[in-house]
Amino acid sequence: MKRIKIKDLLAHGEVGAKVTVKGWIRTFRSNRFIALNDGSTINNLQAVVDFENTDEDLLKRLTTSAAVAIDGEVVESQGKGQSIEIVVEKIEILGDADPDEYPLQPKRHSLEFLREKAHLRPRTQVMSAVYRVRNALAYGIHKFFNEKGFLYMHTPIITGSDAEGAGEMFRVTNFDPLNPPKTEDGEVDYKEDFFGKAVNLSVSGQLEAEVGAMSMGEVYTFGPTFRAENSNTSRHLAEFWMIEPEMAFYDLDDNMDLAEEMIKYLIDFAMEQCPDDLKFLDQRYAQEQKGKPQNERSDLGLLERLDFVSKNDFERLTYTEAIEVLKRSKPFKKGKFKYPVDWGIDLQSEHERYLVEKEYKKPVILTDYPKDIKSFYMKQNDDGKTVRAMDVLFPGIGEIIGGSQREESYDKLLTRMNEMGVPQEELWWYLELRKFGTAPHSGFGLGFERIVLFVTGMGNIRDVIPFPRAPKSAEF
Ligand code: ATP
Ligand code: MN
Repeated sequence: MKRIKIKDLLAHGEVGAKVTVKGWIRTFRSNRFIALNDGSTINNLQAVVDFENTDEDLLKRLTTSAAVAIDGEVVESQGKGQSIEIVVEKIEILGDADPDEYPLQPKRHSLEFLREKAHLRPRTQVMSAVYRVRNALAYGIHKFFNEKGFLYMHTPIITGSDAEGAGEMFRVTNFDPLNPPKTEDGEVDYKEDFFGKAVNLSVSGQLEAEVGAMSMGEVYTFGPTFRAENSNTSRHLAEFWMIEPEMAFYDLDDNMDLAEEMIKYLIDFAMEQCPDDLKFLDQRYAQEQKGKPQNERSDLGLLERLDFVSKNDFERLTYTEAIEVLKRSKPFKKGKFKYPVDWGIDLQSEHERYLVEKEYKKPVILTDYPKDIKSFYMKQNDDGKTVRAMDVLFPGIGEIIGGSQREESYDKLLTRMNEMGVPQEELWWYLELRKFGTAPHSGFGLGFERIVLFVTGMGNIRDVIPFPRAPKSAEF
């Protein structure tokens, strides 16, 4: 018999049909009821065993996480919670899971504990739900951009420029670490290395994506990104995935419109593709909120919040306006912010979250940041002080997107690079984009795990990527 996936069986299974299903046992109750899951859906299939006519040794092997193949007949379910179940006719154990050794119990484990079992945690409801939502969002990204006629572009993972990285990059080398070739001055001689120069893992594909935009018009990248930042936070990973659209002939307003449209599309797409997973995550979120102090609880449930964000316009204001709002705020006046608020500072997460969660109660897009806290490539405003940057700020997370209109003037870009000590020998090709057929253009970077965090309502970024990479942590 051909195997049917549990998701399809639960959706279309007809009473009386004979089917084969394969999966892992979630639970086995009363020597009779198997809850079987194969990863295709959060919902388990109930398989009813005729224990009187089943070998006792076999019954003993029906333990949590054992892999089994079951032939059976679809019947209307007697119990509540599902409409159909199967009556087992034949059961084959594909792989035992010794209950004395298997580390996960059919009970709620802490997410911290599950992180140490990254090879088994997708067998839990919560993690499998997260991974399916993650998958839907990844698919949604490609779908969104393809429908809009954007070209998917692959930018290099190994990069020869560290212009953006500023000390946060992972060096890639195949030197013997104990004995690298040295120059006469005693420094490591990267001319002798594989690429004939020092190279790193990329912190962003933007600069190369601009090459795409300035020829193909509208492109996007979606790839892994590496940052050796020692920030052990619940929102930073050392290896994460980033989506970076880059568009010719877009100004900052066009850029903001695209970012907002994309996020709303992704939220709607996830809700359409993963209703059962999100319902489960909504309940998990509600449970978790109960454990929090009153003032840290979210006003809205997870699904309510997704719906709210997808249906309401984001608030747009300038950095300068935001500083004024912060200075008028209660926490500022009462000295509750840990970090100072002054024009020119880089906003801290506490400031961003105040704006989003307390002041506007919706996503906020801040624009026109001071040039000294932003990158060299952002388009300079006429005031000489600010650049056409935009950050999209989200409840519970803070920054989810960072982007800008790019400086298209060769002279202004060159001057800024010199002021900021960005080596032009390395970025000669980037400068040449401004020399030959330059045009206004814009783009942004969306941290993929941050949108997964938002949509799943999970609290820690390490729980929304299968194998998190963080300082002192690269098991698996
Ligand atoms: P943050 O202030 O949160 O560190 P950033 O200003 O360094 O962000 P950008 O360089 O603008 O971020 O990168 C674009 C997006 O990539 C961010 O908006 C965020 O969503 C995501 N991002 C940045 N750093 C990380 C990280 N270490 N782990 C996961 N996502 C990240
Ligand atoms: Mn950062």
